[in-house]
Amino acid sequence: MTVPPYQDDVKNNQRTNYFNSPALDVSVVFRKQRRLLLFLPAIDDLLTPEEQAIRLRVRECMEKDVAPIMAEYWDKAEFPFQIIPKLGALRIAGETIKGYGCPGLSIMANAFATAEIARVDASCSAFFLVHSSLAMLTSALCGSEAQKQKYLPSLAEFKTVACWGLTEPDYGSVASALRATATKVLAVSRVMVAWQPIGLCMGVYDMCHRYLKERKQFGAPLAAFQINQEKLVPMLGNVQAMVLIGWRLWKLYEAGKMTPGYASMGKSWITLRARETVALGRELLSGNGILSEFLVAKAFGDLEPIYTFEGTYDINALVTGREVTGIASFRPAALTQRSCL
Ligand SMILES: Cc1cc2nc3c(=O)[nH]c(=O)nc-3n(C[C@H](O)[C@H](O)[C@H](O)COP(=O)(O)OP(=O)(O)OC[C@H]3O[C@@H](n4cnc5c(N)ncnc54)[C@H](O)[C@@H]3O)c2cc1C
Repeated sequence: MTVPPYQDDVKNNQRTNYFNSPALDVSVVFRKQRRLLLFLPAIDDLLTPEEQAIRLRVRECMEKDVAPIMAEYWDKAEFPFQIIPKLGALRIAGETIKGYGCPGLSIMANAFATAEIARVDASCSAFFLVHSSLAMLTSALCGSEAQKQKYLPSLAEFKTVACWGLTEPDYGSVASALRATATKVLAVSRVMVAWQPIGLCMGVYDMCHRYLKERKQFGAPLAAFQINQEKLVPMLGNVQAMVLIGWRLWKLYEAGKMTPGYASMGKSWITLRARETVALGRELLSGNGILSEFLVAKAFGDLEPIYTFEGTYDINALVTGREVTGIASFRPAALTQRSCL
């Protein structure tokens, strides 16, 4: 697909939110509250200075160019095609691929770049993921030399946009049958998909933290009520644990030790914890937890497809179950026996 001409509507269409304060700019909140966001130093320690610089570059773009307009596009059920050149300018599409105009990023830089996109908007991260981690990576690993030279350079610049087809209307989960032929691509893409809910939950946690500090009820900030802290802290624990699982999976991958079972465990466990995290966030924001302006309701909705695509939660759990028990339970026992006769 060819990308339409760029049109900047950040200034024109910027929506106010959060009780008429400016549209969400979490970087301002980060600067004020850096010491309170305990997971941030733990994340920083996992990255090299170069990886950290890429992460901050993506964050800046997402907060400046995407955060102010996304709630409006989400409500309209439209995609803001004008942000595609901005994503292209970040030079992250094509991620770990070397040559063909691709950036050759480290796997961790790519993971955190994906998480930073999802932290502001999971529709954008899904768009980026399908284009880069699914379509481009598949082309790089499985395409002919002529195909790579023809398609990858323009995809790396986001001059063209790719899609990726594994499932068909009548074949969803059963597409797992195809997976034996592309195990490497699918294990990698599954872990990369899992970095989206990680980023999404970072954004939800940041918003809830800010909200509890700013909104007052009964003469005190919501953060002062014990029950609210009791909900916020498990969210932070989930985010930290999700990051560490995602990080560990990439370390296993780099060491050539990541199996399909590990990749599927990561995807299923992280999306399960992410559902729990956004549900807690939605409770903390109460009425505003169902308005897209406050990010959490949008994240709540955006998480659902991630729970489903790249193998549903159930299917991924069964992939890992097969690896740890040696028994594949994908097909009902009665049908398996009949097909063996
Ligand atoms: C927003 C979105 C974007 C998507 N993007 C893409 C894309 O870019 N490319 C692409 O190829 N596909 C894409 N998909 C499709 C996605 O991969 C499928 O929806 C997914 O694989 C599940 O298939 P299905 O929806 O047909 O569910 P079904 O296979 O019909 O499953 C229905 C339910 O039954 C369960 N189930 C099925 N089989 C078993 C079994 N053997 N054992 C136990 N439980 C089972 C499932 O877990 C699920 O709960 C996208 C989906 C969504 C929602």
